[in-house]
Amino acid sequence: VYNFSSGPAMLPQPVLEKVQSELLDWRGSGMSVMEMSHRGDDFTGIAERAEAALRRLLDIPDGYRVLFLQGGATAQFSMVPMNLLRGSSADFIDTGIWSKKAMAEAAHYGKVRLAGTGEAQGFTRVPAQEVLDFDPAAAYVHYTPNETIGGVEFSYVPDSGSVPLVADMSSTILSRPMDISRFGLIYAGAQKNIGPAGLTLVIVREDLLGEPITGTPTVFDYRVYADNASMYNTPPTFAWYIAGEVFAWIEGEGGLSAMGERNQRKAAKLYALLDATGFYRAPVAQDSRSWMNVTFSLVDEALDATFLAGAEMVGLKNLKGHRTVGGMRASLYNAMPEAGVDALVEYMREFERTHG
Ligand code: PLP
Repeated sequence: VYNFSSGPAMLPQPVLEKVQSELLDWRGSGMSVMEMSHRGDDFTGIAERAEAALRRLLDIPDGYRVLFLQGGATAQFSMVPMNLLRGSSADFIDTGIWSKKAMAEAAHYGKVRLAGTGEAQGFTRVPAQEVLDFDPAAAYVHYTPNETIGGVEFSYVPDSGSVPLVADMSSTILSRPMDISRFGLIYAGAQKNIGPAGLTLVIVREDLLGEPITGTPTVFDYRVYADNASMYNTPPTFAWYIAGEVFAWIEGEGGLSAMGERNQRKAAKLYALLDATGFYRAPVAQDSRSWMNVTFSLVDEALDATFLAGAEMVGLKNLKGHRTVGGMRASLYNAMPEAGVDALVEYMREFERTHG
């Protein structure tokens, strides 16, 4: 079965097999990782190795802290402004549903300002750098490099000058190499390219770990996590362990360059099919097409249900688009093998042949 769900998504099969093999007894400890004290040597070793692997993969510079949190990316919509929006205002680039949610939440804590929007194009294209209008006095600029629902992705990192750039990388982190030094803070829910749901990753430049706004609960203060190796309270230990196994798997596959090449190839195969036919339609502009979430529709919507039912029958699962936009969406995260994309392309060709 190939699971094209936007999340929780497929995990790499070798990772699942390894986790299964040590599920009841982790390396002779007599315990499952789920049962270990997070402060014991076994688990702190697992936690440290996971962070070290992530640092190697992303080449994270020394002045950045990696935090392993809970609450999903949604909690970060609040945690970022609580920690960074001190009395000033924040700039937002609006590219669709997720950036709007982040902006709405930040408005509870301070002033928000629109620095650019793709609304006029129905969120089928990200705004170009030239039209972005940043406030040099802003506390930070927030954007969503990949809009998971719309399938709209930035092909460039916005230049926000000296204002720290904050990115919701939930659905694009680890999909290719990236330059961490361009960012002030990156956050991501784990359940796409990192590991199981329940873990949230934050990579933050050390100088941004300042004073949170008055009234911020201790459990939402980045500094508290940074000072306590993300173990102020009980962390999501099992998800953290699996994330470490996923990082090791990516390293074994050749790291992020290899992932990037593979992901680009996967997306290109599907877009090539969409561009070559009048039977399917890809709504997103060429320069803003997501590698991770490919959105498309059937020109004849009356065939949607037949298309989805037929796909399920041949093991191509969860291709239905988000309820707010309809159509189809194929999520092609790291764990989706090229064979899964090939199977989808073959199914789509055959469906067009028999229904076109
Ligand atoms: N941001 C983006 C870009 C997402 O894709 C998602 C979930 O799919 C979220 C935020 C919300 O993440 P979570 O469910 O981890 O809170």
